[in-house]
Amino acid sequence: MDLLEHQAQELFATHGVPVSRNRVAGTPDEARAAATGIGGRVVVKAQVRTGGRGKAGGVRLADGPDAARDVATAILGMDIRGHTVHRVLVTEASDIVDEYYVSFLLDRSHRSFLALVSARGGVEIEQVAAEHPEALARTWVDPTGGFDLAAARRLTVAAGLPDEVREDVARVLVRLWNVFRSEDATLVEINPLARLADGSVRALDGKVTLDDNARFRQPGHARYVDVTATDPLEARAAGKHLNYVKLDGSVGVIGNGAGLVMSTLDVVAYAGERYGGVRPANFLDIGGGASAEVMADGLEIILGDPDVRSVLVNVFGGITACDAVADGIVAAVGLLAGRGEAISKPLVVRLDGNNAARGRQILTEAALPGVRLVDTMDGAARLAAELAGKGA
Ligand code: GDP
Ligand code: MN
Repeated sequence: MDLLEHQAQELFATHGVPVSRNRVAGTPDEARAAATGIGGRVVVKAQVRTGGRGKAGGVRLADGPDAARDVATAILGMDIRGHTVHRVLVTEASDIVDEYYVSFLLDRSHRSFLALVSARGGVEIEQVAAEHPEALARTWVDPTGGFDLAAARRLTVAAGLPDEVREDVARVLVRLWNVFRSEDATLVEINPLARLADGSVRALDGKVTLDDNARFRQPGHARYVDVTATDPLEARAAGKHLNYVKLDGSVGVIGNGAGLVMSTLDVVAYAGERYGGVRPANFLDIGGGASAEVMADGLEIILGDPDVRSVLVNVFGGITACDAVADGIVAAVGLLAGRGEAISKPLVVRLDGNNAARGRQILTEAALPGVRLVDTMDGAARLAAELAGKGA
């Protein structure tokens, strides 16, 4: 999960990384009030999850409250690299003397963390890495060890930072490491970390990516989840603990096991070429259990998607045998009817693997309306694609 700058700055502040006084605003009048509260010159900054805001005109200085309101009027609603600006951050303006770059990130290829420091901040780091690789000092940080002041000092020397800022930057690095470690981040970046005219050092930007896999032990991070950016079906599926991803096609797909579902998506897309480019509407892995409850929840999510015109249930019986899955499907249809959500779209079912014959028999005998059995994965995908194509 990527944080907005103001959220990153809030985390920085709680760990003692120096940031500018700031306030978030959603309207020009709020920006004016924020500037009044801060006093003096301010910077108005677009809050979007992408870099390069400065270049795009999303970071602008304002001399006072009225100017802040005017600048906010220009920035709110702007499109920056495909992101619409809904809010701005109003910060006190700093008198910048020099701009540095510092970050910690997860380096998967080295199975380690990496610390990066450069005296060439303010520009995109990819550009520094390409044009002046020698200007980027780096050191790997042992995840089980840590990053102390001595390591931080060495890094500031390696990066060639001016003598007089090294100690302050080193202290910021240790605090930024604490943000990285204790917040379970996979990236924390400050660009620029600025040296100001009064000699102090301050984070003027902030980029943080939190590790979603650590969400269970970071209850405080729930407040950063952007519900408006989450697809409503995905949000509902997450509430039911389903592995669901919305896609842009019209064939709903349910399977057991991520690998099977992935290949089902491919087979549906391939079969769909014959029917005018029919494509899968989602990824949904109901996992090994495939109980009636889970099957009902999965069907409910998929049938709730107005883009879905047919559904393909592709199950390979393993530890949970096909007869149990077939019972699950029959019970799920009953459960859905009970919830007032009778199956309104054609359902193609393919069962294979452990106890497949028994499973098929159960479904044949149940004779559920709208449910069709096909023995092969290719055949089932073709029928589902054809039904979706007809429905169009
Ligand atoms: P980015 O373009 O998305 O990385 O946004 P930044 O927050 O890094 O801002 C872009 C640039 O605006 C920075 O590199 C600074 O040069 C400039 N900037 C940001 N805050 C201030 C400030 O308080 N005073 C001045 N003079 N410039 C600032
Ligand atoms: Mn920046």
